[in-house]
Amino acid sequence: MAFELPNLPYAYDALAPHIDAKTMKIHHEKHHAAYVSKVNTAIKGTDMDGQSIEDLCKKHSDNAAVRNNGGGHYNHTLFWSIMSPNGGGEPSGALARAMNTAFGSFDGFRTTFSNAAATRFGSGWAWLCKKADGAVEVCSTANQDNPLMPETGCGGSPLLGLDVWEHAYYLNYQNRRPDYIEAFFNVINWDEVAKKFEE
Ligand code: MN
Repeated sequence: MAFELPNLPYAYDALAPHIDAKTMKIHHEKHHAAYVSKVNTAIKGTDMDGQSIEDLCKKHSDNAAVRNNGGGHYNHTLFWSIMSPNGGGEPSGALARAMNTAFGSFDGFRTTFSNAAATRFGSGWAWLCKKADGAVEVCSTANQDNPLMPETGCGGSPLLGLDVWEHAYYLNYQNRRPDYIEAFFNVINWDEVAKKFEE
């Protein structure tokens, strides 16, 4: 059972001007597609074939090809899903309460998450995760690692992830990663993040 590149739930230009159409198209059609193709090659003919992408991340991150490309597929699939042209604003309900407990306020979360994204050296991701006890936390991982991978020490189920690889922003923002991080807050689909929190 090979993995497939999922369609975006919106058009390539839908997140502009925060994320431009050319970046979205290359990111999805080239970068994400390459992770899908390479993880399929890595698992073909092995006992990993047929496992969910989550299980590959949780149980097989000792395999470099699975870690990099399976991580890439999982991370990008989540990333597309938690953005929307109708995004932005703040969460409500149980997610908002958990975030207030962890960070004091939405602004507290915003500062913590933005710092995690800005200070990730080189390529990687910033995450908001739900831990086993229901609390939320922010962490960051290198490359295409993610919090499902036990070695990352970044525990829990990812609710929200931000790609801070240069391929995610360089065409529009060049070296201005902080501007890209700020713009991301305009497209976060908090309804989708809340749905993941309640799962
Ligand atoms: Mn990417």
